[in-house]
Parts: sequence; C-alpha cells; structure tokens
Amino acid sequence: MHRYYADLHIHIGSAQGRAVKITASRHLTLHKVLFQDAPRKGLDIVGIVDTGSPLVSAEMEAMLTEGSLQELAGGGFLANNGVLLVAGCEIETCEGIHVIIYLPDLKSIRTLQKYLHTRVKNPNLSTQAARCSTLDLINLNVLLDGIFCPAHVFTPHKGIYGCWTRRWADVLGRQSRQIKILELGLSADTDMADCIAETRPVSFLSNSDAHSSGNIGREFNLLRMQNKNFEELRLCLYKSSGRNVAANFGMDPLLGKYHRTYCNKCRRIAVEEAPILKCPVCGGTDVVMGVYDRIVSIRDYDEPHHPVGRPLYRYRVPLKDLPGVGPRTLQSLWQAFSSEIDILENAPMERIAKVGGARLAALILGMRKGRLNIQAGGGGYYGKVLKGDGEH
Ligand SMILES: [Zn+2]
Ligand SMILES: [Zn+2]
Repeated sequence: MHRYYADLHIHIGSAQGRAVKITASRHLTLHKVLFQDAPRKGLDIVGIVDTGSPLVSAEMEAMLTEGSLQELAGGGFLANNGVLLVAGCEIETCEGIHVIIYLPDLKSIRTLQKYLHTRVKNPNLSTQAARCSTLDLINLNVLLDGIFCPAHVFTPHKGIYGCWTRRWADVLGRQSRQIKILELGLSADTDMADCIAETRPVSFLSNSDAHSSGNIGREFNLLRMQNKNFEELRLCLYKSSGRNVAANFGMDPLLGKYHRTYCNKCRRIAVEEAPILKCPVCGGTDVVMGVYDRIVSIRDYDEPHHPVGRPLYRYRVPLKDLPGVGPRTLQSLWQAFSSEIDILENAPMERIAKVGGARLAALILGMRKGRLNIQAGGGGYYGKVLKGDGEH
C-alpha cells in the first residue's frame, strides 16, 4: 500500500485566458497547479473542482493531446510529473449548498457539462447556482459513477449543516446513505464533526478550497491506496479493501474565518460560551453564525464519539501564515527542502533551524506535537497564530 498526500478542493482562476472562478486569482491556472504548486507543496493528488467549465476541460484536452497529461485506465488523469489530477465539479444546488462531484473520465465530464448547460447562467464559470436539487445531483452522481461529496459542510456560507439542515436524513431520506464522504471545511475538525451521530460511517476530507496558489494544501489528506487512479481513490474514500484516509491535516478550527459567531453591527467576534445565536452585546440577531456555535446547537453528543478507525486530525498552519516567515525565508526553505509538506512533517529540527531560524523550528515542532497559540476567527476574518506561548 502507498501513502499519498491529496488536496481535493482546488479552484482554477482562469483557463484559455478567460475567468473561471471570479473570486480566484487569475494567475491560478491548471498548468500552474499541476506543475508548480502541487510539487512545491508536496501533493501527489490534486482535485480540481472547476472541470464543469468547458474552458478547463478544453485545457485538459490540450494537455492530453500534447502528452503532458494522460487519461488512466482506472480513471483520473496523470500529469507527466507524477501528479494525479482528479476532475471534480463544485455546484451550488437550489437549496443553496455546495456539493462536489468527482468524475472518473472525460466522458463523464462531458455528460455533466451537458446536464449543467441548461441549468446555470454561465457554464464557463465555476460553482454556479444551478437549477437542480441536492437529490438530483446525488442521483446524477450515481449515473456518472462519480464520487459525491458535500463541501465545507458546517460553514454558514453554503454548507449542508451550516445553512440547510440539522440532519441530512431529514431532507434527503434514504438517499442520505449515498453520502459516504464529507468535507469538513476550514473552520471545523474531526472532533466537531464526530459530535453528530449520522457522520459516523462517513469518511472526512480536509481540503483547502484554495482560490490562490498560496492557499493550495493549507489543508490536505494522507491517503492509503494501492495506486494513483480514480478507482483507487474511490476504494480509499469508501474504506474498502484496506484503503482509507490515514490522516487529516488542517487548520486549527480556531483559525477559520467562521469559527465563532460575529455581530455585523458591533463588528465583534463572540468569546462567550457557545452557542451564541444573537449578539451578547447589542442583543441583535444580525449575526454570522459561527461554525462552532452551529455545531454546539445541533450536535447529538457534547463530547466527540469517534468511530473505530477514525483517523487523527492534525493541526497544521501553512508556512506562509506562521509569524516571522516572510517571502525570503519561504524561498530559502523551498530551495533547501523537497516540499512544504516535507518541512512540516518530516524534516529534522536542526535542518529547519539552520535554514529558517530557531523560532520557526520551535513553531513547527509545536505544530507536530499539538496546537499553536491562536486567536479565534469569525465573521469572515481568519484567526491568527500568535507569537510565543500565551504571551501577547
Ligand atoms: Zn464552496
Ligand atoms: Zn470551493
């Protein structure tokens, strides 16, 4: 069995010189993700969630013709530097939630594009609001032999638990059994999701939802698979034949921009005991509900109930977001080590200290051992890593 690092939620800014994801950096191209960002981060597998756009699939086809990409017999696309491209499509359903369908091949991508064509305003753009329900997409996914994944499930912004339902069984009925994986999102972790009973049989993914190069791999997964291809990914995510998600690596939920409830009027992030459903200062209800507050108000258990085999969730902060790491330090770290994941997970402390300084080495050691000192985020503002141990 092999172990691969994967980030399965990455957006493309532009393809064929035109915008794909409006909020993403225009410099974020498919070519750059595959040949620069993925190897620099240390990712073996990347999920591109904008392949519903004909602009993106046209670039894939051009790469296939030119030979820098090949379609695999087991599904998926292998770049000639060894990075596996998993094609996906993030869609906003009529319930206002985001789901991702991962697809095995060009044929299924084309069928999905055809399906979306009459249901979205501009098929070239990603994550468009589509005139179809979550149930429609669950059924479509079965037809396409894809992998269905609700995205960033707890976020107040378009998450299935965050803004639609307390229990997916309530709204999806028997078809809720088709949900075999979910994406935690930046403001949630395994402990939080395991406070809800119906997530028990489901595999958790920790993905970056990157809209820029720098954020690729800010969350990632360690996958145990026999080989790099789509069918192996399916076995892994469905916990079949000895394959599984071996570990999740992600931001401390405190760092997420929706961790605690935020009052739009007072511009204040709640610090009071959760759940905070209205502002404790002005009493107003014009608040952005925090992911943590939402989970506390809908959970089945006060403490996480981890099912057997649930992998560990390890808190990680991208190098660029650590205090004291500027562009110059980043450059020398990238030059000295094989990848960022190598620095975060494996590199000996002495070597990191030599290149990046003793303080950085201490922060990385702290991260490998547990949690860093963090100021919580909320209301669209990210939390911050604080310098030192509690002194600030
Ligand atoms: Zn989304
Ligand atoms: Zn997204």
